Formats: sequence, C-alpha cells, structure tokens
Amino acid sequence: MISLSNERVEFALRAVQQAASLAANIQGEMVSEALTKDDRSPVTVADFAAQAVVGYLLEDTFPGVLLVGEEASAVLRSSEERGTLDKITAFMQRVIPGVRVEEVCDLIDRGVDEPGENYWTLDPIDGTKGFLRGAQYATALAYVESGKVQLGALGCPNITPDLQEKNGGEGSLLIAQRGEGSWISTLSGKIREENFSRLFVSGQSDPTRGRLMRSFESGHTNTTLIDEFQRELGGDADPVRMDSQVKYALLASGEGEIYLRLLSPDRMDYREKIWDQAAGSIVVEEAGGMVTDLDGKALDFSRGRTLKDNRGICASNGQLHNEALAVLKKVNA
Ligand code: AMP
Ligand code: MG
Repeated sequence: MISLSNERVEFALRAVQQAASLAANIQGEMVSEALTKDDRSPVTVADFAAQAVVGYLLEDTFPGVLLVGEEASAVLRSSEERGTLDKITAFMQRVIPGVRVEEVCDLIDRGVDEPGENYWTLDPIDGTKGFLRGAQYATALAYVESGKVQLGALGCPNITPDLQEKNGGEGSLLIAQRGEGSWISTLSGKIREENFSRLFVSGQSDPTRGRLMRSFESGHTNTTLIDEFQRELGGDADPVRMDSQVKYALLASGEGEIYLRLLSPDRMDYREKIWDQAAGSIVVEEAGGMVTDLDGKALDFSRGRTLKDNRGICASNGQLHNEALAVLKKVNA
C-alpha cells in the first residue's frame, strides 16, 4: 500500500504533481501549430521551470540531499536569455508565489549534483520532442540507494488514469515504492491515498501476442531490428510508437508486453541517462514486470549520470522476458 505518511513518498508525489502540472500549462499555452520547426522555447521554459520547482521543494523538505537533474542554468545566465528567464519566473510564480528572477538559476542548479550513495534523480520533461509535438511526455523523479531505485514517481499530463491518451485532461500520477507496488491516480486534484489504484502488468505469456513498444523518435532506437525482433517473436501487430517514460506507465498497466530501447546504429556507444530510466523502471518492476539491459543484466544506477555498465533496455511483463532476451540474442541486438 502507498502511504503518504512516508516522507519520501509524500514529497515525490507533491513535487511531481506540481512540476508536471506546470509543464502541462506551458504546453497548453506555448506549444502551438504556429511554432517553427526549431523553436524550442516552450520546452526550454518548461524544462527549467519544472526542475526549479522540484529543486525548491526538495530543499524545503530534505535540505542538502543530492539531486541529479538533467538541466543546468549556465545557458540561461547570459543577458540574451533574460527574456527566457523572465518567462520561466512568471510560470514558476504560479506555484511558488514569492519567487524572484534572481533566485531561479540557483533553484535550477539545486539539481546539478553528481550521483552519490543515495540520491534523487529528475527528468523535468522526459520526451521533449513529444512535448513539442503536443504528444506524450512525463516528469520523472526517483530515489536511488546503493545503485538500486527505491522509489519512483511519474507525472503524465496527457494520459488518463485508465491509460487513454488525452491532452488537457486530468492526467495521471504514478508512484512505485520498492516492495509496496505501483499505483496510479489523477495528476490534477488533491493527492489522497484512497484515490490510488494498484497497477499490474499483463499476464500474457504467448509471445505471438506480445505487444511491442518503442520510442517515437526513430533515432533513439533501431527500427529495422525492432521489426526483425517482431518477426522472430511471431507476432504481427505494429509496435506502439510513443515518447518518454509514459511507455513504462503503459507496460505497468498491462497495455503492452515488451518495451525495447535498442541502440541506434548511429549511436552504438549511447548509454542511457539515469533520469530517463530510474522512475519508469521501478514502476514496471513493482507492477510485476522485469527491466534489464539488452544482455539481461540488472540496471546499475551507481555508475554516475549514465548506466555505463548497461547496453540499451529490455522491459517486459515478466512472463515474456526470457523469450525477449533470447530473441534479442538471435537478432544480434
Ligand atoms: P524516448 O521518447 O523513449 O525515445 O526517450 C526520450 C529520451 O531518449 C530522452 O530523454 C533522451 O535523453 C534519450 N535519448 C537521446 N538520444 C538517444 C539515443 N541515441 N538513444 C536512446 N535514447 C536517446
Ligand atoms: Mg529524458
């Protein structure tokens, strides 16, 4: 059972709710069809504002503990970026009324720690490309102890608690605690224990009926090899293409069986960032699923800002994990 009297649980839910709701407002107000292709300003504003909000709340709740966030304020400190900083400040004031523009960079940089024995890790907006397309993205926050994720929360503004894609709705808020299960409620509204329902992965054990998930962005994976994987597995449904850790939320809820992050042929040296996998992976594990790398190795979050010792990701409902790893080997993934 999830308990709000656990201080870390309560903090993670509150911080992710505020950061993801702010991101949703920014997506609603700033992302429009009129954006030019490389106008990244909405995601820049949202990324920084969301990290600063979490930085502020963390310092208020657990002063001095490590926070490893994706963003750093250096690029905002030049005079040309003053307009961006003003926009970030204006959005932040909706959540933290008294915040001043002079404080914002330091609040963002509350998250520039290096991982230690115990740390929090944050992706303020995971799936920035989805955010800009008006599609899926998530705020992801996790707590890691000795290389193992102990707690993870995901704020998913564009998915309903019954896992339907819907922009501008109530959104969903997920939490998983080691040994206590994975839970989902609405992102909007007051956070109450009794509003959370428990999540379980699908019980599907027939590989030919395994539904696959992969990045929307082809450059983040290997689409040719995913097609080959699908043929070897024996199924014929097209993989679900979706941005961000929302895929982990779907897998944890039984809306898919296998989620692969294969190495892109252009970036065979790519290693996953800790904040991209920490929260999502525990949400799946606590729902009964399994998450390893492509070689079947456990993810090791004690190696710095990336999963240095792991190659890609294979996540599943558990039932199909061995089969998935065997097929990965067969197709030389
Ligand atoms: P997704 O939407 O599932 O593809 O995940 C988005 C995350 O992919 C971003 O937060 C990036 O950090 C990460 N990413 C960026 N480049 C790559 C790459 N070449 N391979 C895998 N992931 C990447
Ligand atoms: Mg990310």
